[in-house]
Amino acid sequence: MDVPFWNREIETADRSRLETIQLERLRETLSWALKTPFYQKQLRQAKISSADDIRSLADLRKIPFTTKDDLRLNFPRGLLAVDMKDVVRIHSSSGTTGIPTVIYYSKEDINNWADLMARSIFATGASSADVFQNMMTYGMFTGGLGMHYGAERVGMAVIPIGGGNTKRQIKTMKDFRTTVVHVTPSYLLHVHTKLEEFDIKREELALKKAFTGAEPHSEDVRKKIEQLWNIDAYNSYGLSELNGPGVAFECVYKNDMHLWEDGYIVEIIDPDTGEPVRDGDSGEVVLTNLIRRATPMLRYRTRDLAYLHTDPCPCGRTHRRLSRIMGRTDDMLIINGINLFPSQIEEVVMRIPEVATNYIIQVEKRGDLDHLTVKVEIYPKLFLGDPSQLEALKGRITEELRSAIILHPSVELHEPNSLPVSEGKAKRVIDLRPKE
Ligand code: AMP
Ligand code: ZN
Repeated sequence: MDVPFWNREIETADRSRLETIQLERLRETLSWALKTPFYQKQLRQAKISSADDIRSLADLRKIPFTTKDDLRLNFPRGLLAVDMKDVVRIHSSSGTTGIPTVIYYSKEDINNWADLMARSIFATGASSADVFQNMMTYGMFTGGLGMHYGAERVGMAVIPIGGGNTKRQIKTMKDFRTTVVHVTPSYLLHVHTKLEEFDIKREELALKKAFTGAEPHSEDVRKKIEQLWNIDAYNSYGLSELNGPGVAFECVYKNDMHLWEDGYIVEIIDPDTGEPVRDGDSGEVVLTNLIRRATPMLRYRTRDLAYLHTDPCPCGRTHRRLSRIMGRTDDMLIINGINLFPSQIEEVVMRIPEVATNYIIQVEKRGDLDHLTVKVEIYPKLFLGDPSQLEALKGRITEELRSAIILHPSVELHEPNSLPVSEGKAKRVIDLRPKE
């Protein structure tokens, strides 16, 4: 297989070289962090007063974790390390609680980020020959502009269409002969269901690749996307606190995402104890940003659950691979005392061939008990056949779910495009239980 490199030297650097870079950048980041009111206090409590207190990568563990709440409580300038005149971009997210978080970027920060983005894009085999339709929301969300800058750096022809307006998306793909899209997996599946309605055949489009990210999705969802569209789909991971997309990305081998270790230090911890897990075990991803000055970020608890592969990738890159995100520490549902991650449901339903592209998980109280309903869209031809087949299918899905998640859900079968769909991140869980 042809393995393209944006920066072969760094991407294949041996571990000791990577660790040397990490330590140097960590110390530099720490000295920037010490300019912010938040980290001054945080680090003083940990008895760290200068970069000299960090002499090896093992010393990283002396630094306390940073959480989303820390960012909220220190809004808007508690983590700002440079003068406002050196800030060239601000991204902010409002989140569910309404208290925003903010990230500032200097010119150099944007430059570093664009470089990791370009590296990520290049690793998939995309190049300046591609026409790139960026279907992620622009604006304050980092998925739009973050990917945009990297794609321009690669030299792709970038169409900054942003999210939504399915008809326009499809028409644009056709008119400009788009070859690569960046999109949430759920929206890309949705767009496929609309091709027929807008009278456009797949063969009229030139699409070859998709970068899918911003929300959890299983390997079966990837397969579904690849089969329906006849393209290659590459998983893309990032979060605004750590710049945005470009933290980890799949290479041409598509066997999970190289996490760019010259830009970030990754730790996997037990979310309950904060202690590191054993090599290769899953836990919460903790990230330190090594390439940003305006908003330094040390040991950020992402709440994302994943593991690191311990074996090397055939592409020759030395940066370790992060698994798919298996869920978040905060998206776990507790249903009648049983812990359930939405991803467990996705894994079951997306494996079933009759299931189309969308599903919803609903939880409500019935009397004293919680009740779980899984609503799935299935292909329309099934509604035309014998109703007893529908019943049998429902029974099969219920049984597969029951054996995977212990709970006994109700299953509802719906026609395609009848369940709500989001143009940004998918909202799969509707929890109607009264809040305590
Ligand atoms: P935001 O800060 O709005 O960009 O959201 C970042 C969050 O989106 C991450 O912490 C993950 O929970 C989720 N996310 C981003 N990319 C992926 C991905 N490829 N797979 C699963 N979840 C993702
Ligand atoms: Zn690789």
